Amino acid sequence: MKLELDIQPISSWLPNINNPLLIAGPCSLESEEQALQTARELAKDKRVFVYRGGVWKPRTRPGCFEGVGSIGLEWLKTVKKETGLLVGTEVANAQHTEEALKAGIDVIWVGARSTVSPFVVQEIADVLKGTDQVVMVKNPLSPDVPLWLGAIERLHAVGIRKLVAIHRGFTSFSETKYRNYPSWKTVVELKSMMPNLPIICDPSHISGKRDYIYEVSQRAFDLGLDGLMIESHIDPSCALSDKDQQLTPADLFAVLDKLVIRYARVDNKTFESDLEKLRSRIDSLDTELLELLAARMEIVKQIGNYKKANKVTALQIDRW
Ligand code: PEP
Ligand code: MN
Repeated sequence: MKLELDIQPISSWLPNINNPLLIAGPCSLESEEQALQTARELAKDKRVFVYRGGVWKPRTRPGCFEGVGSIGLEWLKTVKKETGLLVGTEVANAQHTEEALKAGIDVIWVGARSTVSPFVVQEIADVLKGTDQVVMVKNPLSPDVPLWLGAIERLHAVGIRKLVAIHRGFTSFSETKYRNYPSWKTVVELKSMMPNLPIICDPSHISGKRDYIYEVSQRAFDLGLDGLMIESHIDPSCALSDKDQQLTPADLFAVLDKLVIRYARVDNKTFESDLEKLRSRIDSLDTELLELLAARMEIVKQIGNYKKANKVTALQIDRW
């Protein structure tokens, strides 16, 4: 299935961008000082385009730090004024959305715990109707492509065109080294359904630990994703949320220096023709493999019929 939605590329609303979109900033805004100190450091590197800061924090269990609330929007406004960075935050209901619009927040995003609920997404979409807001949609907690797509469609249906999907990993039933395991297959599926939908990666919530941020980010670039959202805090050891996954601005820049950005296409004729030759060899091998598999399946069928005709069980344990 291919969905032809009219979605604008990132470069249409961020004209100066010639690199992947990089969003960085603290998981949560904690004080005006922490917000500004982090922003001042991040703004020193021209690769950062958008400053993120969580104001309303959807915590899995009550009793944890749930964000500073509306006052944080004022701090974002100060960050924007002082650094020139665009600013972004998560919204999770109609009231958040109204307040974020009123404060002129450049980018809002729907968090993973909200994308799972069509009612919540619709409530947010209804407030956004008639605006030209940039809206990003994180994947839902489970690898459910229609649910992720559904959220994007609801926003598109009210006229939002500056849309971006964010892959932040999925909840796993088994232990994995990541906090939320990445499903690159799901991302490729989404991309093939909606080729014009920009998709960025949030390696922070995938990793859960700062040590894995580099490898997850590189994987995202290897697959040609359009950018990254990385959590960065002036002093992660004191962070009130997600302290193990946040990088200092200096550590973030070191990760960026190591990353190799890849492009979907290059302007190089030799490369193109070599690639074409290798691809056609793969294609003919695939055809041979399929023919062999078909021949093998035919024999399996014959064996099955032969056993049936001779009243022999399907399973012979010695052969198994
Ligand atoms: C966040 O971005 O801080 C956040 C809560 O993310 P997610 O919705 O991906 O859990
Ligand atoms: Mn976080």
